[in-house]
Formats: sequence, C-alpha cells, structure tokens
Amino acid sequence: MDGSVLGAEELSAALLAIEDQFVPDPAAGLAAAAVLERRAAELGDEGLRMRARLCRASLGVRTGEIAAAARESYGIQQWAARHGDRLLESRAHALCALVQRLSGDAAQRLEHSLSAVELLDETATAFLQIGHRTRLADALADTGAMEAARLQYRHAETLAQQAQRWDLLNIVHNNWAHYEYENGHVVQAVEVIGRMIEHAEAHGLELDPPTLHTVGEVQAAGGDYAEAERTMLTCIARYEAGQFEAVADLVYYRLTLARARRGLGDVVRAQESLDACRALCAELGLDAILAELHEEQAELHAARGDHAAAFAELKVFIAARERRRSQEREAQAQARQATFETAEAREQAERFREQARRDPLTGLRNRRFVDEEMPALVADDPGLCLAIADIDHFKRINDRLSHETGDQVLVQVARLLETGLAAAVPRGFVARLGGEEFLLALPATPVADAAAVLDRIRQAIGTHHWHDLTGDLPVTISIGVAGVGEAAPPNQVTALAIADRNLYAAKHGGRDRVVAGTPPEQRPRFYRDRNVG
Ligand code: GH3
Ligand code: MG
Ligand code: MG
Repeated sequence: MDGSVLGAEELSAALLAIEDQFVPDPAAGLAAAAVLERRAAELGDEGLRMRARLCRASLGVRTGEIAAAARESYGIQQWAARHGDRLLESRAHALCALVQRLSGDAAQRLEHSLSAVELLDETATAFLQIGHRTRLADALADTGAMEAARLQYRHAETLAQQAQRWDLLNIVHNNWAHYEYENGHVVQAVEVIGRMIEHAEAHGLELDPPTLHTVGEVQAAGGDYAEAERTMLTCIARYEAGQFEAVADLVYYRLTLARARRGLGDVVRAQESLDACRALCAELGLDAILAELHEEQAELHAARGDHAAAFAELKVFIAARERRRSQEREAQAQARQATFETAEAREQAERFREQARRDPLTGLRNRRFVDEEMPALVADDPGLCLAIADIDHFKRINDRLSHETGDQVLVQVARLLETGLAAAVPRGFVARLGGEEFLLALPATPVADAAAVLDRIRQAIGTHHWHDLTGDLPVTISIGVAGVGEAAPPNQVTALAIADRNLYAAKHGGRDRVVAGTPPEQRPRFYRDRNVG
C-alpha cells in the first residue's frame, strides 16, 4: 500500500480496514500499519498515529511480540483517556485484556474486557460492539461465570443478527459453544452449535476448520460420534485444502477425530488417527499437546480391553500433564513479571523525567521544562502572555543576612507567585529560570489583563510580612511582560526578549513595578500602584 499520499480522512479509512476485521496475514498487516503510522506522523495527527500504533501492537501479539503489546496498549489507553478518545481507549483496553489472557491474569483480563465494553458508544462499529462483548463473555466464561457470560453472548448474538453480520454471529456462536463445552455444559453447547449450523446453512456460510472443530468436539461430547467423525473429516479436509495459520491446530483436529472413532467403537482407525497425531506432534515439537495424546491413548487401550497398557499410559499422561502445568505456570509467571517490570520502569522513568523538570529548591518548574513545553504552548496559543519576574536587590539579602535566608526568600516568593497566578489564571504556570529569576506563563490572556494580574502579585509580594525573615530589608520584585502576539515573529525567543527588555526598563524605572509594552520605538508603559494603564 502506498500510504504516502493519503490525507487524514483516507488514512482514517485505511486504519479502519485494519481495525475492523480479522487480518488473515499479520506480517502484511504490520507492514501496512507501519506505513500508515509514518503518514500519520507526517500529517502531525497524533490521534491517527495512536490508532496506527495500536494496530501494530495488536498484530504484533500474533507474531509473538507480547511484551511490546503490553507496553503500547497501556500507553495508548492512557493517551486516549487523556484526550477523550473513547473508541481508541476501548480498543486499547481490549488489547490489554488479550495480553492479560496470555499472561494468565484472569482478574486483570476481566477488568480490561469490561472497560472495553463500557467505553463503547453508538458511534462504535458493529465489529467493536460484537467483538468486545464476545471477548468479555469469554473472559467471564474462563472464570466459570457462565450465567454472566451467557448474558453477554446473547447480547452479542442479537447485535450480530440486527447488523446481519453472519461472520461475526458465527464467532459469537463458536466461542459460546466452546466455553459451554469447556465448562461441562454439553446440552447448552449442543444447542448453540445447532443455532450456528442453522445460520450457516441459511446464509450459505462455510464453517472454517477451527469452528468445525468446536462443532466436532461438542458432537463427540454429546455422544453423537458418527456426526462428530463426519465433521472432523470435513474439518481436516478443509484445513488441508486451505491456508491456515496455526499448524498446531491439525494435531487437535486429529485428536478429536480419534475420540469420535473410539466412540464409534472403531479402535483400529482411532489408533491410526492418534498415531498420525503423535507423529505430527513429534515433527512440530508440540510437547504441550502430548499429555492429551497419552490420555486418549490410555482410553484407547482400555477400549481394546488392554487394561495393563491403559494403566501404564495413564501414568505417563499424568506425568506429562504435570510437566505441562508447571511449564504453563512458569510462562505465566514470566509474562506477569514482564508486565510488572515494564509498568515499574515506566513509572520510574516518568518520575525521573518529572524530577528533572522541577527546581529542587522551590519545587517550581525549571528551565528544562520551559524549554521543552514552551514551543508547543507558543505555537498553540497566540494569546499567550509571558512575564519575567526578578527579585530586587536580592544580592543584598544574601550579603547582609545569609545565603540560607536568601534561599528561604526564594521559596516564599515562589509560593506567592504560584498562588497569586493560580487564583487569576488557573491554567498558567510559574517556573524558576535560575537564580532569583522566574517565568510566568498566562495562557489566553490579553497583555493589559496580564499586567493587572501581575501587578496584584507584585503588590502581594511587596506587602507580605517579611520582617521575621529579613528584618528591615524589604522584598520586592520587578516584572517585564510580553504578549506572544506582540512578538514578530511570534515565538518564544522574541517574546522573552521583549519581556526581558521590559524587565530591564522596570529595574531602571526604580524597581518594584510591572512593565508591559511592545514595539521598540514605543515607550514602555509603566504599571505601578494606581498608575496601571
Ligand atoms: P537587581 O535588583 O538588579 O535584580 O539586583 P540583584 O541583587 O537582585 O541582582 P544580581 O543579579 O546582581 O544578584 C542576584 C544574586 O542572586 C546573585 C546570586 O548570588 C544570588 N543567587 C543566585 N541563585 C541563588 C540561590 O539559589 N540562592 C541564593 N540564596 N542566592 C542566589
Ligand atoms: Mg535581582
Ligand atoms: Mg537577576
């Protein structure tokens, strides 16, 4: 796909094509999503970029990139929550749920699955509505909460019928039947399978091998061995004719075929199927399935009347099952550890970053913060006002009293600046640029209003009760103001230069005052006490 020419709307549509269907080839999907992500970055559209990143993370799970998916899904979910993008947040939760399913944390998986459904609104596509409900139902069913799961499956079923999405209806039924079967509710499983087959026939759908396998398993469990054998033969034939991702699935198909044949009393052909299964297992190195093979072998020996062999095989089965369980537990522990470590590392990195952007003495933002944040603030807000405040004769305080007293004055001035600004301009901030110099940012504030606010802060500092700290030495500040709109070109550097020049004028005008004003040829206007304006 050539994504380099797409506009935002086309890009969004191209992303939806990946988001809103099951992508058969994850590698190709990943490559396409990478192209779209680059294009979104070029367009400077952060929302589209996040969507493309989530596509990549989701597809990455299928190529084994689970730790990366854990990292990304969490970050994107946070971003979406901050920016009020409910559908993106819902999708991110769905991916978190998938990661948790793979790491075996049922509680976390449920929580994310629930959030993924709760965040849906009427703008959500049928794919999301049905998909996220089905996954929530799966999560519930996996904890054995079958009653609650059925509610969700039924809801998803109704939505799929209303939207006439027979492909999705098929997935709902497949998962529903599978979990009824897994939880031992064979009657319910048979009933769901019945509805699934009915719909497939009514709408001319051909069931795919994994779905046929569910059907075969349920039929065998319900004692309908002849039907189960037929189903599994169709399943294997379709598998061999088509291109399907998981080779391991074939082992399960043959195993279920062996069970169906044993049920029919056809021990010879059951054994054939089981032998083929065992050979495939060895070829693919699929130790995880071995336990089930031994179990079926034991059953087959017993069906043949060879109880000694059945008993021996059973012992092998139990050992294999224990081995697999401990491997699973280990894998889950590792995945959980990986999730935990990335979460912890992320928090720590965030803490360090936050620390590096604060002044340790006053707790205010520091120059690094200003340098990092200011360009975006200036670009987004032509009404932004900047001011530089400098303590008057601060050297005197240090010299006549002590450096420690100077420090305390700095802390107190910082506090007065912050509270004064917060009261008037809640979205504003104060930073310590260095020494006894501070920057104040006042978003969307006309220069005259800013000057008035700053003059009140100046007065508050001058009239603060300093005596206990500095004795007879007064503490006052001078402030230079500049509106970003006044700066030509309107950028941080020129605005700060104007503010600085005005600060210089305030110092030369006698200190303890606010000066705002713009063009070099225009005389700066002085703001002091009643002379404001
Ligand atoms: P003006 O009114 O012209 O601004 O005079 P001033 O004395 O405030 O200005 P000047 O720039 O000459 O002196 C600033 C002093 O601030 C010099 C420096 O030693 C002191 N200083 C800088 N950083 C700190 C600090 O973190 N703590 C203390 N106590 N003093 C500091
Ligand atoms: Mg000073
Ligand atoms: Mg100074």
